Amino acid sequence: MRTVTSPDYLNCRFAKEVEEQLNNAGDLFFQAIANADGVPYQFIFGTGNEEGYYINVGYGIKQLLGVTPSEFTEPFFVRLIEEINPVSDDIPKARSESRERIIKGEIQKYKAEILVNTPDGVKKWIKDSAIPVTDDKTGRVTGLLGIFNDITEHKQTLIQLDKALERASESDRLKTAFLNNLPHEIRTPLNAIVGFSTLLGEPGQDMNDRMEFSDIITHSSDHLLEIVDDVLEISKIEAKIVRVIRKEVNLNQMFQRVYDRFKPLANEKNIILRYDTPIDEREIIIISDSYKIFQSLTNIIGNAIKFTKAGKVEFGFCIKEGKIEFYISDTGIGIAQEHQPNIFKPFYQAESSSTKRPEGTGLGLSIAKAYIELLGGRIWFKSEPGEGSVFYFTIPNERRLTI
Ligand code: ADP
Repeated sequence: MRTVTSPDYLNCRFAKEVEEQLNNAGDLFFQAIANADGVPYQFIFGTGNEEGYYINVGYGIKQLLGVTPSEFTEPFFVRLIEEINPVSDDIPKARSESRERIIKGEIQKYKAEILVNTPDGVKKWIKDSAIPVTDDKTGRVTGLLGIFNDITEHKQTLIQLDKALERASESDRLKTAFLNNLPHEIRTPLNAIVGFSTLLGEPGQDMNDRMEFSDIITHSSDHLLEIVDDVLEISKIEAKIVRVIRKEVNLNQMFQRVYDRFKPLANEKNIILRYDTPIDEREIIIISDSYKIFQSLTNIIGNAIKFTKAGKVEFGFCIKEGKIEFYISDTGIGIAQEHQPNIFKPFYQAESSSTKRPEGTGLGLSIAKAYIELLGGRIWFKSEPGEGSVFYFTIPNERRLTI
C-alpha cells in the first residue's frame, strides 16, 4: 500500500497513529473499489516505455486478464492492447505519448477505453481511469493511481445499439423514398384506368382497340391492387400481427396453380416457364400455411419473369435433409454484388441508371422472407449479373399424422 506522508500539521505526538489510520483507510478504499468490480492499481514510471511497475494491483486482475497481481507487468499489459480510445481529445492515443505528458504534468486525469486480447483469446474492453501521483519532496510526477473497469458488456450493448440505429435509419430512408414515390406509383396505374375507361366508352372504337384498352385497364388494376396489398401486408408484418394458419397443402396442385397463373405472362415475353415436382411422390401433402407458401412463390417467380428478357424460368422443389426445399431459377439480369446484401430489406430496389426501373414496390422479397421465416424456414439466393439468379427457400416437411 502507498505510504501517505503526514502533512506538517500532523507532526505532533499522534502523527504515527494518524498515518497508520490513513494507510488503513487507503486499504479500505482499495477494497471498496474492488467491491465495486473495479481493479485498483498503482503504477510507478520507470526510466523508459514499458519499464514501469504495477504495484498494489487488486485481485480482480485475475478475472479481468487471467493473471495474478504479481504477474501483471507493463510489458505483459502492452502486449494485450489492441486499441486505445481516449475519452477526451486532450489525451493522446499512443501510450508512450500519454506517459510523457503525464510526467510533464500536462494531464491531470487520464481516461481511456482499451481493447485487449486476453491470454485466452477473449476480447475485452477495459476503462482505465488514473490520476498522477506526485513526489511530495521533489514535486515530480512519479506514477499513477488508477482503476481498471471491465466495460465489455456496456461496449457490446453500445455496438448493438449503433447497428440497430443504423438499420432503423436505413429502413426509414427506404420507407421515405418509397412514400415520396408512392403518389407516382399509384397515379400511373390510376391514370391508365381512368384514361382507357373513358376511351372505352367513346363511340367509334373498333373491337381490337377496345380489347387492348380492356387489357391495359385489367393490368393497371392488378398492379394497383398489388401495391395496396403489399403495403398493407408489410405493415401487418411490422406490427407482428400476421398469424400462421396451418392446414393440409397439396404442393403438386399448388405448383400447377402457380404455373397457370404465370404462363400467359411468360408467353407474352417469350420466356420458357417450366416446373418440376418430385416424380417419386405424386401427391405431396404437408401441413403448412398454403397462402403464405403460394404468395412467397408468386413473389419470387414474378420477379424471375420480370427481370428476365430471354431464356427460361424454372421452379420446383425437393425433399432435402428433412425439409422441403424450393428453387426458382432464371436466366435474367442477375443482381449486382453491391445490391445483394440489401434485396430482402423492405422497399429496397436494386436500380440501375442504365435500365428503366421495372414496376414494383420493393416489398415482394421482404414479404416472402417474413412469411418463410414465420413458417420455420429460411430463404437465400445465388446470383450472377448478366447470367441469372436462383432463389431457394425451405419449409419444414411436416406431414399429417397417419394412425
Ligand atoms: P420489387 O417489387 O422491386 O420486385 P422485391 O422485394 O421483390 O421488390 O425485390 C427487390 C429487388 O431485388 C428488385 O427491385 C430487384 O432489383 C431485385 N431482384 C429480385 N429478384 C430478382 C431477380 N430474379 N433477378 C434480378 N433482380 C432481382
